Amino acid sequence: MSALLTVSDVSVAYGKVEAVRSVSLHVDAGEIVTIIGANGAGKTTLMNAIMGILPLNGSVTFRGRQVSRLDIEDRVAAGLSIVPEHRELFGSMTVEENLQLGAFRVPRAEATSALERVNTLFPRLKERRTQLAGTLSGGEQQMLAMGRALMGQPKLLMLDEPSLGLAPLIVADIFRIVGELRQAGVAVLLVEQNARAALAIADRAYVMELGEFIMNGSAKEISDDPRVAASYLGFQSS
Ligand code: ATP
Repeated sequence: MSALLTVSDVSVAYGKVEAVRSVSLHVDAGEIVTIIGANGAGKTTLMNAIMGILPLNGSVTFRGRQVSRLDIEDRVAAGLSIVPEHRELFGSMTVEENLQLGAFRVPRAEATSALERVNTLFPRLKERRTQLAGTLSGGEQQMLAMGRALMGQPKLLMLDEPSLGLAPLIVADIFRIVGELRQAGVAVLLVEQNARAALAIADRAYVMELGEFIMNGSAKEISDDPRVAASYLGFQSS
C-alpha cells in the first residue's frame, strides 16, 4: 500500500535546541499509528511541525505531494488536520458554531453532510448543539475538538493526547470513536501518554525518546517488547 503520509529525516529545533532529531515515519490510508513516549520526548513538536505550526528540516509528503513548505491552511486543504492537546475551542460560542468554524473552507452542501456525520459519530454533540463550548465537560470538549477537525473532511487526523485529564470511562469512549474513524476511512496519527490504550487501538507504533524514534513495529510487537512494558505500560491505569 502506498503511504498517505511520509515523514523523512525530519528535525525540528527551538533555537539551538533540537527537540526532534532526524525522524522518519509513515501512515498508510486507513491506519491508526501511534507515537508513544514520555513527557518532553518531542511528540507534540513533531505533530505541530507536520501540520506546519512549527518549521522543520526534512521532507513531509502527503498524498504524493511535498507539503513541508506549505502554510497551515494549505495543509488543511490538502487533507491534514490536528486536534491540539489543549483543544483550543471557542468557549463563548456554541457547540454548533465551533463545528461550523471547522468547515469554513468546505462548500455548504459538503459542510451539511459533514455535520451529519459528526453528529452520528458524537450524538452527545448533537444533543448539546446550542450549549456554549466553555460549559461542556472535558470529555465533551475533546469530542467537540475532534468533531471540529472532522468538519474539514481530513484524510489524516492527528490527535495530541486526546485522553489528557479525562476519566477512564470517557477515555474508552474517545478511543472507541477513534476506531470508528478508521472504519470511516480517516487515518489517524495518535500521540498518547496512555500507551496501553493507544497500543490497544493502533495498527502500528513508534516509540520516541529524547527527540528520536528508538523502536517501531506493529502495535502487538511494541506491546510485547519487554523494554516498552517496563517503561511505558507498567503504571497505566486503563
Ligand atoms: P508532552 O507530552 O509533555 O507534550 P512531548 O513528547 O509532546 O511531551 P514536546 O512538547 O514536543 O514533547 O517537547 C519536546 C522538547 O522540546 C522538550 O524538551 C520541551 O521542553 C521542548 N520544548 C517544547 N516546546 C518548546 C518551546 N516552545 N520552546 C523551547 N523548547 C520547547
